[in-house]
Amino acid sequence: MKEELRFETRAVHAGRKADAATGAVAQPIYLSTTFEREADGSFPSGYIYSRSANPNRAALEACLCSLEGGAAAIAFASGSAATMSVFQALAPGAHVIAPEDVYYGTKLQLQDLFARWGLEASFLDLSDLDAVQAALRPNTQLVWIETPSNPLMKITDIAAVSAIAHQAGARVIVDSTWATPLLQSPFLLGADLILHSSTKYLGGHSDVLGGVLVANAEDEFTARIRTLQGAGGAVPSPFDCWLVLRGIQTLPWRMRAHSDNAARVAAYLHGHPRVERVFYPGLADHPGHEVAARQMKGFGGMLSVQIAGGAEAAMNVAANVQIFTRATSLGGTESLLEHRASIEGPHSQTPRNLLRVSVGLEHADDLIADLEQALG
Ligand SMILES: *Cc1c(COP(=O)(O)O)cnc(C)c1O
Repeated sequence: MKEELRFETRAVHAGRKADAATGAVAQPIYLSTTFEREADGSFPSGYIYSRSANPNRAALEACLCSLEGGAAAIAFASGSAATMSVFQALAPGAHVIAPEDVYYGTKLQLQDLFARWGLEASFLDLSDLDAVQAALRPNTQLVWIETPSNPLMKITDIAAVSAIAHQAGARVIVDSTWATPLLQSPFLLGADLILHSSTKYLGGHSDVLGGVLVANAEDEFTARIRTLQGAGGAVPSPFDCWLVLRGIQTLPWRMRAHSDNAARVAAYLHGHPRVERVFYPGLADHPGHEVAARQMKGFGGMLSVQIAGGAEAAMNVAANVQIFTRATSLGGTESLLEHRASIEGPHSQTPRNLLRVSVGLEHADDLIADLEQALG
């Protein structure tokens, strides 16, 4: 797909063409695990065995590669499986710098799984550029950025952190799940790899797990991740790939609506007497607002809110909502709300009176009216 075509056009067409055998406009789901070879042993279709490559996965990867402007995209069974492959691709004894509020599953992998294999990790506030500089070690191979972050919506300056990391010879990966390829283009800011949990906005309907890594170069590191995909086998099923690719077709339109709705809900909560604080990068008083306005095309559909009166008051609001669903995750059409500290467990650093909100695609007036009655 030509890169000069606009995002909306690529979201609909990249990786897709009518089926050569039947003319079907929507790609068939290729459940076959194995593919026939020619008499001479060749396989001109490019497919041999579905763990190594599958037509539905190839279509999804081509689309994501185009949307991020990358050199390669590699799809996994979940965002967490994609994350694992990055750590597994590092050389033994490597050091990783990650945000202190990195997605808790990513932190769990670094601390519980990979520490046993000799991977070192430092967790810090990546908005403090001096701290990033000071944390670099001779064996620092990777700086992990997640922006906006979870659940305080911290914004990391991707260009500034990439420049520091590259001077030290470290790769930079951006977990861009919350921003999506529409709102943030990490490769244009210097990143080397982009991670998405496609479970969220890419799938967009809370009905499929998936993850993807996009690389800006076909280098040795990318080749190793592809080997981990095929030989490690944490691959998405053909139907998973089909669902994510179907979701991506409407991604730009959904993201604009998510962002508009979230901005309205954030503005409403911001002025409410029962609200202590709202975390949304679109608000002018958000500490990351300036960087977000520079590096994002919109502020996204996620926000967090601290309710005045402590944990009990926050739990009461969660108990009283009618349209919002009390559930974890994000990025679906339905609005979700959760008491984040309960989800994260006993080691959570999240304030006890904080609710995390994934603003969906309902009418903003209905969402605001629901919060109005729940806040009481
Ligand atoms: C959900 C999420 C992940 C993990 O993805 P799964 O698909 O649940 O494995 C990683 N990073 C962020 C920012 C997420 O929101």
